[in-house]
Amino acid sequence: MNIIPIYFLKEKILEVNSGMQGIDYINLVQLIYQLKLKEMQEHRREKNVYWVTDLVRCPLKRYYEITYPELITSQVFTPPFIQGDLIHKGLERLLKEAFPEGKVSVEVEGGKEVVLPDGKKVTVEGRADAIISSDDEKIGVEIKSLRSDVGIPLDHHVDQVRAYNWLFNLSYSILIYVTPERITQYMVSDKFSEGEVIERILSNKAPRYPWECTYCPYSVLCPNKVTSK
Ligand code: SF4
Repeated sequence: MNIIPIYFLKEKILEVNSGMQGIDYINLVQLIYQLKLKEMQEHRREKNVYWVTDLVRCPLKRYYEITYPELITSQVFTPPFIQGDLIHKGLERLLKEAFPEGKVSVEVEGGKEVVLPDGKKVTVEGRADAIISSDDEKIGVEIKSLRSDVGIPLDHHVDQVRAYNWLFNLSYSILIYVTPERITQYMVSDKFSEGEVIERILSNKAPRYPWECTYCPYSVLCPNKVTSK
């Protein structure tokens, strides 16, 4: 048996944008890394833009992402996230194949302007995993891959979907979970009101959920970190 760790081979890098430069071997790990890095670089924070995820999680994370952007660079390559991305891509492709051409859009980006009580205008931006369109309605699809099915559907996922229903004016969304124990789906028709969006933007409840600090890259410097014994 001849098994060679790829990193020992002389590199001819597969570049994401310019096509293959050489095919002595294909470094798939590097390809995934470069794709993730590119995606992260394309989604830089802007001061007057709030992402949908900002509305459903600890508000301090947005502040830290703007102030210490380099601190999350290492998050670009975490196996659970990459596994989740690959599941997303697979399901998105399945949707494309299952519906007639033009009926399904994937990774749909959108934004809506809201005016805060002090008159400041900000934009809320989000990216829906998929939107299925018929003649008279639009239905969202939000894909979640988790390591466990305990407690699903999770509150912050339902809130995220409610925010997408508002942002994209969806009739409802399907929240689908892929876990080792269960693959199941929930229909969420409720949506955020603009008042609720503004309330979330102005919220200073940090963390929003106590468990967030355990997985937070900013816990190394955050005075609000919730600790346990
Ligand atoms: S450590 Fe906790 S409180 Fe601080 S930013 Fe992270 S999630 Fe928020």
